[in-house]
Amino acid sequence: MNYEQFPDNPYILLTPGPLSASKSVKATMLRDWCTWDDDYNNVVQDIRGKLVTLATKEPEKYTSVLMQGSGTFSVESVIGSIVPGSGKLLVLTNGAYGKRIAEIAAYLKINYSMLDFGELNQANTEELEETLKTDADITHIAVVHCETTTGMLNPIKEIGEVVYRYGKVYFVDAMSSFGGIPIDMDDCKIDILVSSANKCVQGVPGFGFTICKRSLIEKAKGIARSLSLDLYSQWKTMEEQNGKWRFTSPTHTVRAFQQALVELTKEGGIAARYKRYRTNQLKLVQGMKRIGFAPLLRENLHSPIITTFISPESSDYDFKRFYNALKEKGFVIYPGKVTDYQCFRIGNIGEVYPKDIDRLLQSIEEYCNSYNIVQMNNY
Ligand SMILES: *Cc1c(COP(=O)(O)O)cnc(C)c1O
Repeated sequence: MNYEQFPDNPYILLTPGPLSASKSVKATMLRDWCTWDDDYNNVVQDIRGKLVTLATKEPEKYTSVLMQGSGTFSVESVIGSIVPGSGKLLVLTNGAYGKRIAEIAAYLKINYSMLDFGELNQANTEELEETLKTDADITHIAVVHCETTTGMLNPIKEIGEVVYRYGKVYFVDAMSSFGGIPIDMDDCKIDILVSSANKCVQGVPGFGFTICKRSLIEKAKGIARSLSLDLYSQWKTMEEQNGKWRFTSPTHTVRAFQQALVELTKEGGIAARYKRYRTNQLKLVQGMKRIGFAPLLRENLHSPIITTFISPESSDYDFKRFYNALKEKGFVIYPGKVTDYQCFRIGNIGEVYPKDIDRLLQSIEEYCNSYNIVQMNNY
């Protein structure tokens, strides 16, 4: 098939997901699959195996589960199926996605507390250790790897070291980083990790996945607070019935994801993808500073995934107008989500290459010149 004959998207998505997927990934969705047939279940098993090998050098210790829905459904399935009634969850927060984990615990009436670092600071291991010393009830720790609210990267390896020393269960929301930043779950002492189809693996939306220590999921029978989000039952069915899902699975999305994994390997694996994202992000920040935009975070806190920029103070600036002008030029950016600052965000993951960032910067510069909103933040 000549994918290049497929129509181009009217704009590329510079967002944290869903993101621009390749034509060859989208083309795989042009056929139907039977959910109980081996053809389809073998696709699922292939994906489950590959996810584990992407996540660690010790694949035999780990297993994976796919779950219908967006990424949050998978996070909720983990929180609801792993923390037992007698447990207590400590959530390290520095943005909206960390807070969402705590909100899930509150909905499910799970005992939890939050250790908040503020949106501009990384999670800090000294404070974590203090908390673990003073609250012996804590059994599980959760943290977001790339806090997509700001683009902040949290030190998951250092946190894992502390969590391991205190003998707790360690959960990482690696939604917006898995596949785009090298992570070894075993090295980082991560017991359970979640991501979704439409982030750095560059599939299309429709399901999330959990990679988990075998010894942990094997003990999780009967904990779930929800039938459809029962992670243990979903795993057990996939494990014992060659990749079968309990309920209707998003077949086209799953097949597209298998192709996305092939393309990740073709690109050179996670290390190569990380390099491309990093190049995109550095180019973006450099160019934006030159035009006059200030990034919200200090350079050393940035992930290579998404960057928050402070909105210009000029009265000629209006996000919606800026957004629409860029959309017309072929770029969709993302609104801000930070509490105390007027911001907007630009993602650089998906089918996005340095030449796209160059074109974006040129469009932004032209826009700013035409509205006379240069030197916005005294950069
Ligand atoms: C995208 C994302 C999620 C999940 O969001 P959904 O809209 O449910 O897919 C969770 N955590 C982080 C850090 C994310 O970036």
